Amino acid sequence: MQVANTLEKGKVWLVGAGPGDLELLTVKAARLIAAADALVYDHLVGDGIVDLARPDARRIYVGKESARHTLPQKSINKLLVDLAREGLSVVRLKGGDPLIFGRGGEELEILAGCGIPFEVVPGITAAAGCGAYSGFPLTHREHAHAVTFVTGHRKDGNLDLDWSALARPGHTVVFYMGIGAATDICRQMIAHGLPAETPAAVVRNGTLADQQTLLATLATLPQRIKASDIKPPALIVVGSVVRLHEQLSWFEHAPNTNPALQTAMAQQS
Ligand code: SAH
Repeated sequence: MQVANTLEKGKVWLVGAGPGDLELLTVKAARLIAAADALVYDHLVGDGIVDLARPDARRIYVGKESARHTLPQKSINKLLVDLAREGLSVVRLKGGDPLIFGRGGEELEILAGCGIPFEVVPGITAAAGCGAYSGFPLTHREHAHAVTFVTGHRKDGNLDLDWSALARPGHTVVFYMGIGAATDICRQMIAHGLPAETPAAVVRNGTLADQQTLLATLATLPQRIKASDIKPPALIVVGSVVRLHEQLSWFEHAPNTNPALQTAMAQQS
């Protein structure tokens, strides 16, 4: 693979780091990370991924856990512009796909407005990663003809979503950032017509060695979440595809053959 110092200067690459498992990075993402002068990354980007950077690369953590923004978005935007204007090749790394609930679009608008050249490298979004590693095909001819990704993050305490559009049969709905609003989500989905026994699940740390899947129904999910004390990052998946987990789950209890995961597990024990 071509690496080292071949990137254009004064340019920003907005790169998706995938959902966690190092091996789910794209080849292009790995090449850019290894070649960049500066790396600006969020908290959902795994350590192993940042370690691919050149030893002399500038590594700048800009955080972002929902309650604790390490750097406000405006300062992140300014940082990207400043680094590019300094003449560096900059990789802006975000968890999953940079343009799905990542505010990547806002960062691109600023770069475009400032005349800074950029490229975008898509990544595997958490829903795709969690679906694959938990054994939920997000669409399936007998279960779901559509899938919707929606944010469960409340603005000013309100979860103002188009509930009747979401609570349709034959539909998988994946809520990002929805753990804190699980009670509301389940209540609204039932109130807008889905049966209380509709399968619903939470996947935490999807694709990572400690991935956890909680299976429930719309009626029981909030209680299950409380009882398990599950924390973000986690997705809520609603729809009958969740039932397929029982048959198609291959990852959580399988013997581990992935070298990156083996290393992560050894470090944890
Ligand atoms: N751009 C990212 C999403 C950023 S929003 C993407 O495309 O995946 C952050 C939310 O994504 C988290 O609160 C959680 O809901 C979800 N998420 C990210 N990584 C996850 C993972 N490994 N397992 C489960 N959910 C994850």
